[in-house]
Amino acid sequence: AVDGGDRGINAFLHVSGEEALATAAEVDKIRAAGGGGTEALHPLAGVPIAVKDLIVTVGQPTTAGSKMLEGWMSPYDATVIEKVRAAKLPILGKTNLDEFAMGSSTEHSAYGATRNPWDLDRIPGGSGGGSAAAVAAFEAPLALGTDTGGSIRQPGAVTGTVGTKPTYGSVSRYGAIAMASSLDQIGPVARTTEDAALLHELIAGHDPKDSTSLVDEVPAFAQAARRQDVTGLKIGVIRQLQGEGYQEGVLARFQESLDTLRAAGAEIVEVDCPSFEYALGAYYLIMPSEASSNLARYDGVRYGRRVLPTDAPLTIERVMGATRAAGFGEEVKRRIVLGTYALSAGYYDAYYGSAQKVRTLIQQDFDAAFEKADVLISPTSPTVAFPLGEKLDDPLAMYLNDVATIPANLAGIPGISVPGGLADDGAGGQLPVGIQFLAPAREDARVYHAGAALE
Ligand code: GLN
Repeated sequence: AVDGGDRGINAFLHVSGEEALATAAEVDKIRAAGGGGTEALHPLAGVPIAVKDLIVTVGQPTTAGSKMLEGWMSPYDATVIEKVRAAKLPILGKTNLDEFAMGSSTEHSAYGATRNPWDLDRIPGGSGGGSAAAVAAFEAPLALGTDTGGSIRQPGAVTGTVGTKPTYGSVSRYGAIAMASSLDQIGPVARTTEDAALLHELIAGHDPKDSTSLVDEVPAFAQAARRQDVTGLKIGVIRQLQGEGYQEGVLARFQESLDTLRAAGAEIVEVDCPSFEYALGAYYLIMPSEASSNLARYDGVRYGRRVLPTDAPLTIERVMGATRAAGFGEEVKRRIVLGTYALSAGYYDAYYGSAQKVRTLIQQDFDAAFEKADVLISPTSPTVAFPLGEKLDDPLAMYLNDVATIPANLAGIPGISVPGGLADDGAGGQLPVGIQFLAPAREDARVYHAGAALE
């Protein structure tokens, strides 16, 4: 961890100063040469970017926040990194995260927690707390994150930054270390909707290396973020994502956001999504199931760490056992056990099968809601940033942070979190509140259009 350099925020696990400066110098040289060279530069050329350490990079270590991959260097770049390099954005380094992206506070990192720049005694959200904190603390203007159940949007909400989960399949997952493959998406983290949109445009697009990649053309998101006028836009308030469990200050800022949108000409309607009640339960079966399968590759043979048992016999099972016992943290082990159980022969239908049915019901809720509204709106997170340690020993309390973000992953639709003002933190301070917009699949431009109206 890089301490001292960032006031103890601990946003970065690795800083790549030399590489970043070399890219910046290259851009300067092209600019100085002028003419055709300058025209050929991408609008984001020279704008530094931080990368969540779940995304693999050549020349910089990738740990996934785990001791399992300590010191591991990827032999290839993720597709999004290839695009970032081609557009000449200097890569500042790799940001901290909950181990294998499992968590909502970045406290499950094997390399120490990241702190919220607004209040160093509070969490920056998770799992992408490092990327959000780096952007919020003005350490990086842009960052990349991944969102499986809210890991871009919830950190965005509690750090006062903008974060987007793109439509599933619209940004290549090639080179994003797999957590739950049917839910994972890479997306942009930024300080404004327009910045996020520009980065989103850069990383989106079909990739033959990702079998779930969409073949759509890349739409103009930045243009949507610049279109301030929301006259006639129908915005649906999700009845199930407010009220109980949501802090008063969060609900107050949410109501003010609705007033702002109404005053700007939007039409606010109410929509019902009754199956959302089961979203969290379904997610915490599907996600660990897929993760238990994805994490089976860390066997002490093929990747990263290998720990030998201290006594004989040295069988492959015992090497695997010793490696996984030492390499994985508690939360990762908890989810592997949960997922393996849910997928086991006698229980598969009861757990995994039922969860998949709930997933369909949630998609149907969204389909019905989007008949009535162009975009949907809710608070991104039920609370402002909570104190470090508060929920660390209570997995259920930690999981409840994701109630509002998870439905979008289960349905594969896009979502954004934008800053919605400050609310009381219960201790005399003020902390950011996030407002979430959701749109139908492939309509990511709509979340930028609506989100920009709150800026
Ligand atoms: N907080 C959620 C979880 O722990 C989301 C994680 C994510 O999006 N990577 O599963």
